[in-house]
Amino acid sequence: MTDDEIRREVGRWLDENWSPDLALIEWRNILVDGGWAAPHWPEDHFGRGFTTEQAAVVTAVFEERGAVGAAQIGPRRLASETILAHGSQDQKQRYLRPILTGEHTWCQLFSEPGSGSDLAGASTRAELIEGRWILNGQKVWNTSAHHAGFGILLARTDWDLPKHQGLSYFLLNMRQPGVEVRPLKQMNGHQSFNEVFLSNAEVPTEDLIGGEGNGWAVAKTTLSFERRGFSRRPTGGGARGPNQGRVHQEFEVELQIATEPYTWYPQREGRVDLVLSRARETGAIEDPSVRQEIAKLLSLSTGAALASASAEAKRKAGTTEILPTGSIAKLAASVIARQASHVHTMITGADAMLSGSESAEDGVIAEILVSVPAISIAGGTDEIQKNIISERVLGMPRAQRSDTGPFRDIKRNAG
Ligand SMILES: Cc1cc2nc3c(=O)[nH]c(=O)nc-3n(C[C@H](O)[C@H](O)[C@H](O)COP(=O)(O)OP(=O)(O)OC[C@H]3O[C@@H](n4cnc5c(N)ncnc54)[C@H](O)[C@@H]3O)c2cc1C
Repeated sequence: MTDDEIRREVGRWLDENWSPDLALIEWRNILVDGGWAAPHWPEDHFGRGFTTEQAAVVTAVFEERGAVGAAQIGPRRLASETILAHGSQDQKQRYLRPILTGEHTWCQLFSEPGSGSDLAGASTRAELIEGRWILNGQKVWNTSAHHAGFGILLARTDWDLPKHQGLSYFLLNMRQPGVEVRPLKQMNGHQSFNEVFLSNAEVPTEDLIGGEGNGWAVAKTTLSFERRGFSRRPTGGGARGPNQGRVHQEFEVELQIATEPYTWYPQREGRVDLVLSRARETGAIEDPSVRQEIAKLLSLSTGAALASASAEAKRKAGTTEILPTGSIAKLAASVIARQASHVHTMITGADAMLSGSESAEDGVIAEILVSVPAISIAGGTDEIQKNIISERVLGMPRAQRSDTGPFRDIKRNAG
């Protein structure tokens, strides 16, 4: 289908079906049945098999019309794409629709106190006892776990196999007595993460995904979506249109909950957009050493934007060259955020340490300084990206390993 044909068909369908007076879940069920909730998904699973570009045309029409789209924000997206790739027919039937309608919320339960970068070193234990998987262990840094009804979880099912082979991947119901979620307070004052304690938490056998011992392959699918930068913003639009109906009001409430853990994410990217205006306002633009650092920052961020546009153009043109562009872009984002933090400090001086309504940019500058460190950690640290780039782009020899052989014999930290 051409873009114009898609636009016409979506427009016709919205004319016949869109009503802002419906309840949000009622509207989303109509959307799923109409095949417009996730048009890039396969036809036999609520989609139309569209390309990403075709799906973007659909989103644009929804936005123009003020129509609300599917609930595809944050970890829900990680869960749905993983279930689509590895789930059984039964799992797809049970889980995909309520993700699209927004009835189910999800979180990612991967990191542990003793395994973050070394994710395959997970030591949460899953044992099959009387026909159910029983889980014991601790997860940490789990964004949105305090809101989530379900979690995608990696646990060890075999301690005698090498570490990557003894893992399995589970779909965990968070609302059960064996799951305890404890919020963590960050140094920027926000509370996005949690610790999650599993004490004889139960998972039915039909909620093991991808087969026993195949957890690492399934986790790699989730991680590839995460590194590509899954959306933390809603698709479809209309939440703030002038004629707000019931669907918009309920969508607004859903959005506030779903986006709350991410409100500080622009600050962790360094807010390059504020630099020039602040340098002008404060007079720092006259300082030659500040100008040098601003020029360095803007060259880096423009270069990264051009590289990203070039990678996107190559992808659209069907270039099959396999480069870990996600790792390079992620590393570039860290370098830029740190340089932005440095420049904001030069411009604002000691006042950059002050928060509150009378501080620089109402506390935004202070929030930048204490949020930027997170970008070098989340979704794989800078050092891990450098390892990937050195081995896969530069062809350096693989790092020496001391973690081969049965997992139970490997020296490790906690757990
Ligand atoms: C904003 C944010 C959101 C997050 N959300 C989630 C979430 O929703 N779910 C979830 O499960 N986790 C989440 N995490 C956790 C994140 O995935 C881990 O913090 C990350 O993988 C790093 O693990 P770690 O903190 O255990 O650090 P470690 O792995 O202990 O690393 C400590 C230091 O050692 C370095 N290092 C480790 N291994 C190597 C190596 N092989 N070579 C060189 N240097 C190395 C690291 O680069 C780092 O500097 C989140 C983290 C952040 C900051």
